[in-house]
Amino acid sequence: MANYYQPEIETASVEEIKALQSEKLVKQVKRVYENVKYYRDLMDEKGVTPDDIKGIEDLHKLPFLTKADLRNAYPYGLLGADLKDCVRIHSTSGTTGKRVIAFYTQKDIDLWDDCCARAIVAAGGTNEDICQIAYGYGLFTGGLGLHGGAHKVGCLTLPMSSGNTERQIEFMQDLNSTIICCTPSYAAYIGETLKEMGLSPDDINLKAGIFGAEPWTEEMRRDIEKSLGIKAYDIYGLTESTGPGVAFECEEQTGMHINEDHFLAEIIDPETGEVLPEGSKGELVFTNLDKEGFPLLRYRTRDICVLSRKPCSCGRTFIKMAKPMGRSDDMLIIRGVNVFPSQIETVLIKEGYSPNYLIEVDRVKNNDTLDVYVELSPEQFSDTVKDLHANEKSLADAMIQMLGIKPKVHLVAPKTIKRSEGKAVRVIDKRKLHD
Ligand code: ADP
Ligand code: ZN
Repeated sequence: MANYYQPEIETASVEEIKALQSEKLVKQVKRVYENVKYYRDLMDEKGVTPDDIKGIEDLHKLPFLTKADLRNAYPYGLLGADLKDCVRIHSTSGTTGKRVIAFYTQKDIDLWDDCCARAIVAAGGTNEDICQIAYGYGLFTGGLGLHGGAHKVGCLTLPMSSGNTERQIEFMQDLNSTIICCTPSYAAYIGETLKEMGLSPDDINLKAGIFGAEPWTEEMRRDIEKSLGIKAYDIYGLTESTGPGVAFECEEQTGMHINEDHFLAEIIDPETGEVLPEGSKGELVFTNLDKEGFPLLRYRTRDICVLSRKPCSCGRTFIKMAKPMGRSDDMLIIRGVNVFPSQIETVLIKEGYSPNYLIEVDRVKNNDTLDVYVELSPEQFSDTVKDLHANEKSLADAMIQMLGIKPKVHLVAPKTIKRSEGKAVRVIDKRKLHD
């Protein structure tokens, strides 16, 4: 039987949800128009007034906001409330370019914590659980976001932050942690460390993990589930919209339910900005319906995915987003072919390799080059040099099938690729250095 943190809204009818969104949108647009000069100017420029927005059907009339706007308006230009009513800031991890910061009022924090609590309950969490938070604490939203959610659920919360992996495992054993929250790349690292410590999933008490903040593949999910003996749930969010908990996975594990009472989602064509019908692949855009401190309307996330309203066996009615493949700006264009790092990860794990890899792109004499460094396990490393070459070739062949272009594969010694305690850096694009 599925459990919900806020059953009324999580299982409301689609009509109820849409009516609530319309009501909130009208109010939010008025509030933003009055309080945020930067956005008022954009609306004026487009010739839209708050009176033109009568419900969600009018959403498309509003101007978009992009990361460039956030940088232009840095630090206070998009602030939606009096600074004296704000109680916290967070900042993006700066994976791509300069950081942006977001402001939170107490109400914003409260609603955010609710969103994370919904995710924890969807992963089977209750007040009997011991929840180990191994996301980074600080400006990054991961740690404090899940922390707030775990408190709301009433879990015994272990605010570990990321890093010190052996200590994470010791605490896990001493306190019998049942739920772990961290990035998927860090979860993989914890699984690897567990094994190195001579332990198995039977030596720990974890039952579930809530992993997000970076793209990860289904293959990686299965790997983590095996290495930690858990069910692994995806969670999505971005600092600009609040942090983790914008969307969360239920036991069906077929996409993440968007917390639609707070976040109104659209999919647009990233080239033309045109709104696409449900089921189309495109760029995800969020309108924050409740946020006071940093109330972004029609924010373009650059995350590429698909939305679906297909009924879910968990009974939740919130629309679901598919796992984003990575951001449009994570997509590499190599010799004219679009390549996502996640496609490379899929091939690697399918072929029996570890998710420890690094992609290097360069341009030599006007030709793009793609090198993939893949770490071997100690058992794989004992093969002869001849075997290694044969394996490099067969892995490169498997990648051509997936990518449509041929990479140069380098199988490297165990422990030579740096592990990640937060968001993994998978790509080095040296072409940018030449531009
Ligand atoms: P930064 O933009 O510096 O990485 P954030 O920490 O706010 O800052 O990251 C938000 C981004 O992380 C999202 O826009 C998305 O690209 C990625 N992300 C977050 N959760 C997931 C997830 N579950 N799956 C894939 N990507 C995710
Ligand atoms: Zn569901």
